[in-house]
Amino acid sequence: MLPIELNKRQEKIVEIVKDLGPITGEQIADRLDLTRATLRPDLAILTMSGYLDARPRVGYFYTGKTSAQLLTEKIRQIQVKEYLSMPVLVQEDATVYDAICTMFLEDVGTLFVVNKHSKLAGVLSRKDLLRASMGNQDLNSIPVSIIMTRMPNITVCSKEDLLVEVAEKLIDKQIDALPVIKNSTDEDAFEVIGRITKTNITKALVDFSGDAII
Ligand code: ADP
Repeated sequence: MLPIELNKRQEKIVEIVKDLGPITGEQIADRLDLTRATLRPDLAILTMSGYLDARPRVGYFYTGKTSAQLLTEKIRQIQVKEYLSMPVLVQEDATVYDAICTMFLEDVGTLFVVNKHSKLAGVLSRKDLLRASMGNQDLNSIPVSIIMTRMPNITVCSKEDLLVEVAEKLIDKQIDALPVIKNSTDEDAFEVIGRITKTNITKALVDFSGDAII
């Protein structure tokens, strides 16, 4: 993570390195009238957060990256696995009524439907269930397999995917959630290991909005 705000000393270090880099830790310490040991945590923060680059036996360089650029880089590196939620699954032969109860009780907006081998078969959204409830049909007699969006038309992701890519897919396909599946090339055998929704992405945004621009 980026530091919330650089302290005065860190700002001074950045200025020195900007003007004089490459420069050793020892030389920076001399300029600030401090010991190398006192400076070590600041230099660690500045290199970890990407403001400075350290090369062995050469010294510190200014990367030239603004905090906004560094923040963007960090956001683009977030992976699905850091933000995914547990999936809520229903069986293919469950009824629409069962699915409505599950959605209500589990407090989610999207259910994933699995076949008898526990592999991904479909997706049910709130509107899929609302649509099926319109009219005078017996919801206890309609299986979800009739109304779900089914494989191979499901957009999925894996836990190593980037969160921004998932966000792009959600916008592009105008959907609210993606099942996170275990890596597999066999479309008939996708195992659902998580759920990533607009809420998870909002959470990431909130986490990162604490990081300031200097
Ligand atoms: P809602 O229908 O409640 O607005 P969505 O926008 O998520 O919720 O769903 C819109 C449609 O897209 C629904 O018919 C749903 O079955 C389908 N859908 C939802 N998620 C996916 C997905 N990951 N892949 C393919 N289709 C999906």
